Amino acid sequence: MSEAPLLELRDVAKRFAIRPDLATRIADRLRRRHDPHVVHAVDGVDLAIERGEVVGLVGESGCGKSTLGRIVAGLHAPSAGTCAWRGAPLTAARTRTQRLAIQMLFQDPYASLNPRMRVIDLISEAPVAHGLWPRGDAHRRTVATLEQVGLDASALPRYPHQFSGGQRARVGIARALAVGPELLVCDEAVAALDVSTQAQVLNLFMDLRDQASTALGLTYLFISHDLGVVRHLSDRVLIMYLGRIVESAPTARLFAAPNHPYTRALLAQTPTLEATKRTFAVIEGEIPSPSSPPTGCHFHPRCPRAQDVPDRRCSRERPLLKVVGRGHRSACHLNDREVATAPEPPTPQG
Ligand code: SF4
Repeated sequence: MSEAPLLELRDVAKRFAIRPDLATRIADRLRRRHDPHVVHAVDGVDLAIERGEVVGLVGESGCGKSTLGRIVAGLHAPSAGTCAWRGAPLTAARTRTQRLAIQMLFQDPYASLNPRMRVIDLISEAPVAHGLWPRGDAHRRTVATLEQVGLDASALPRYPHQFSGGQRARVGIARALAVGPELLVCDEAVAALDVSTQAQVLNLFMDLRDQASTALGLTYLFISHDLGVVRHLSDRVLIMYLGRIVESAPTARLFAAPNHPYTRALLAQTPTLEATKRTFAVIEGEIPSPSSPPTGCHFHPRCPRAQDVPDRRCSRERPLLKVVGRGHRSACHLNDREVATAPEPPTPQG
C-alpha cells in the first residue's frame, strides 16, 4: 500500500461573509435581495504534497493563495472539504504535533516578530514552552538555529528593529525552524525585500531545501505572486486563479510547455530572477471580484482563447483539471480537443 501524502486537501473551500457598501445595500433592497454577500476565497481545491517536495503556489493578488496557505497552517478553518496530515484528519482542533509540524512565514517578518523581545527569546520561546528544548540548553540551541540561517551569536541580545530586512527574514525563518517543522508555508516570504536581499534569502531557502533529505526533512509550500521567484525553488508549481487551481505541473515542464491561457499570459510577462526590474504580469482586464466571480471558467472575461471554444462553453461550464502531460494537469476546455504536444523538457529544475 502506498504511503499517504504528507499533506492532502480535498475539495477545500473557504467562504467569507462580507458586509456590502451602502450603494450595494440600497440596490439589494430595491431588488429585494436578501441572501448574504459571500467572498469565495478558495473554491474547491485539491492538493497533495509529498514529504521533501517544494511546491510553488502562484497567482495574482486576491486569488486566494494566502487564504489557502492559512488553511494549511491552521489559521483558517475551511468552509468545506477535508484536510489530512500523513493520512490523519487535520481539523481545526489540531494536535500539538500537527501544530508544530506546520509553520508559516509571512511577508513582513517585522510584523510577526514581537519588537519587545530579544532574538534569543524570540527563537527559544516556543521550543522551550513545548518542552522541545531543555531550558538550560536554550542558548546553545538558539545559536545553532541562528547558524542554520546564516546569523551568529552576536544576534542573540538584539531586538528586531536592530536588523536589516534580510536579517529579520532570517530571524523569522530561524524562529520557525526552532520547533522542528516538517512543512513550511512561506507566504510571499521575500516579497518585501529588495532584489539582492531576495536572492540571498531564496538561496537560504535552497540551502535548507538541500538539507531536506538529511537532517531537516523540510517540505515547502511557497506562495508568491511572482513566477520568477518560485521557478528557482520549486519542484512543482500550482497556478491559482480566483480561488481555483487552474494548472499544476513539474516546474521545468510548466515553464517549457505551459498549457493554460492564464499561465501563458503570466509567463509571457514575467521577468527573470536575473532582471533588475521586477514587476508582475499585466494581463488584459481586471481580476474579477471573488464576491461575484464570473460563471463557468472564472478566467473567461480576460481569456484570449475563450472565443476558440464553441457554444460559449467557457462562460457556462467550469473546466475541470485534466491530465495534459506527465504530472501535468490543466483546467481548460481547449484541452478537450487539444492535447499539449510540447516535448518533455530535457532536465528538470532544481
Ligand atoms: Fe480560456 Fe475557456 Fe480555457 Fe477558460 S476554459 S482558460 S476561458 S479557453
